[in-house]
Amino acid sequence: MGQSEAIVAEIKRSAEELLRWVKEHPNCTLRDLEERIQEWKNQAGVQLLEASVAMQGTGRWAEGACVCGGQWVFQGYRERRVMTSQGVIRLKRAYFTCPRCGRGFSPLDQEKGIEGGWSERGLEQVLWIAQAVSSYREAEEALQRLAGQSVPRSTIHRLVERYGGRLAEGRRKEAEGLWERGVRGEEIPAPREGPKKEMGISLDGVMVWVDGGWHEVKVGSCFEFGPGKDGEVEVRPIGYWAGYGEVEVFRRTMWGYAYHRGLGLEGKAVVIGDGASWIDGFAEVYCPKGVRVVDWYHAVEHLWALGREAFGEEAAKSVENVKQKLWEGRIEQVIRDCEEVLGRKSGWREGVVRTAEYFRERREQMDYPAFRKAGYPIGSGTVESACKGISWRCKGRGQRWKAQGLVAILALRSAGMGGEAEWNRAWKEIGLAA
Ligand SMILES: [Zn+2]
Repeated sequence: MGQSEAIVAEIKRSAEELLRWVKEHPNCTLRDLEERIQEWKNQAGVQLLEASVAMQGTGRWAEGACVCGGQWVFQGYRERRVMTSQGVIRLKRAYFTCPRCGRGFSPLDQEKGIEGGWSERGLEQVLWIAQAVSSYREAEEALQRLAGQSVPRSTIHRLVERYGGRLAEGRRKEAEGLWERGVRGEEIPAPREGPKKEMGISLDGVMVWVDGGWHEVKVGSCFEFGPGKDGEVEVRPIGYWAGYGEVEVFRRTMWGYAYHRGLGLEGKAVVIGDGASWIDGFAEVYCPKGVRVVDWYHAVEHLWALGREAFGEEAAKSVENVKQKLWEGRIEQVIRDCEEVLGRKSGWREGVVRTAEYFRERREQMDYPAFRKAGYPIGSGTVESACKGISWRCKGRGQRWKAQGLVAILALRSAGMGGEAEWNRAWKEIGLAA
């Protein structure tokens, strides 16, 4: 009996055994049946996959030379366990070593896309789930329940650090390279996607417990916008990037990401933020031809903060009044109103005492009537929902991060939040090393 007949016979036998069990348990529940069949599927999946790989051989003969220049020497066939999306399979592969430097090499790994004992799909499944749930413990449980994959959380963590880190580092390096070549006036690779007609970038921060304290994670979203229903501005998110660490690294990486997603070299985007100076720094350098907008809700929140402090429960009336002026573009009046309120007493809270300055310093970024007329969005909703997505993953129930792990999960989470196409794009960038 050939290999494939043997495996077909084995699967047939186990299916028959399953049906025998069903006959003997006529009163079992649907749940019982589902569990039995799931188990059978898991087992059959491993058997089929294992047999399929075996049928395709043990790997090409390793021809040519090792990177050190030495010649590969065949050492025999080695059995190896590989974690896959179906579970653990065993496979036999031809194994070579280089007598000169001692490196080992299995051509089958390269042919089939196996790295560090993982199949590509198995690995992708682990990483996708790891970013989608709110902790490594949940990832472990989800993999077990949904995929029958037993992977300890410490392993999941290690894989995230390695491959998420690879994505973050790859994007950082690429942006760095693009920028430096641009600065030197060299030609830079064309954006992977054509320019978007109207592109927006919104930026914001979210506090995460990392390196023993609360620190800000920077989050950015790219979106397209255009006229929508009822005179509203319609916004379509394109993708996200989140990072932790040096602010310039984040800004540049965010730019490199946006560049490829359609920002291109012109840097003509509407940049929406809360008015933080790191966001100004981004807009000045990377979107010099763009328009800067202070997010409407953040601006209004500043009025509320002052109003609550000054008038307590009675704040609503005066806040609504000033808010209307802001909406109509009477920014000088808004500044005067804030100054007037602030002048009534001293000893304002830190966050409130600079309210008039806040509006004065950013008045060009609050020309809301002009922005509305031009059809620009004035709210940073896309990045706010991204911040919620980051919070969900990174600040649940007493989570504490180290920089390396946080940077890695942020990269994967950014890709995961962007939907399937965005994930696939990131996965290609991660690319399994040959
Ligand atoms: Zn060698």
